[in-house]
Amino acid sequence: GLILKFLFGDSVEAAYHEAIYQMTIVDALTQCSNKRYFLEFLERELSRSERYSRALSLLMLDLDHFKEVNDNHGHLAGDHVLREVAGVIKLHIRKEECFARYGGEEFCIVLPEAPADNALQLAEKLRASVESTRVVFDGQHIPVTISVGVATLDPLAGRAIGSIEFIQAADARLYRAKELGRNRVVGPRDALELPDPARNPL
Ligand code: GH3
Ligand code: MG
Ligand code: MG
Repeated sequence: GLILKFLFGDSVEAAYHEAIYQMTIVDALTQCSNKRYFLEFLERELSRSERYSRALSLLMLDLDHFKEVNDNHGHLAGDHVLREVAGVIKLHIRKEECFARYGGEEFCIVLPEAPADNALQLAEKLRASVESTRVVFDGQHIPVTISVGVATLDPLAGRAIGSIEFIQAADARLYRAKELGRNRVVGPRDALELPDPARNPL
């Protein structure tokens, strides 16, 4: 009460503007951040990582065979699955991290200060949590799994990285996780195309 009064005073208008602002940065279906907020967050963290030589990790997650969920159970069931999965993931996300819906059934997580080991650990925890979640819609059990791609920026590698390149690196590993059979994590050390490690700080 006191804090709200401090922030808004007696102004309902300020609270209204805050609510409108929230609507521009939160995904309506899942209540996690939206793509726009994610991109701003990532840009900011990339600058910080470069400037202060801090590690930075990015996870790209995609629901496996989600089209089948829609086809077999309908779109409402699909929406329910998306909300449930987002809810499970949210339990593992800290305040200083960014969890966002990137597109339809694709999510991303920005982990400031996280080296590859931590990022991989979280990715595996999320994968296992989703796999063991019992999603039920309309009395029907709907099995759901995710694939995850992980990219980590090592600032000591000494090359500036743009957000697009960073996202592409995580996305390439997500794609690889799909190729390898889905319901798995692919990260920096899972032998991808790294012709010259010195020039590939991701
Ligand atoms: P893969 O394991 O390769 O990712 O297969 P997939 O079926 O998950 O991937 P694909 O890209 O073929 O299909 C994604 C589906 O996600 C198709 C689209 O209809 C569905 N989708 C995207 N956004 C939403 C949404 O907001 N609600 C629902 N119900 N479905 C959605
Ligand atoms: Mg998918
Ligand atoms: Mg997809």
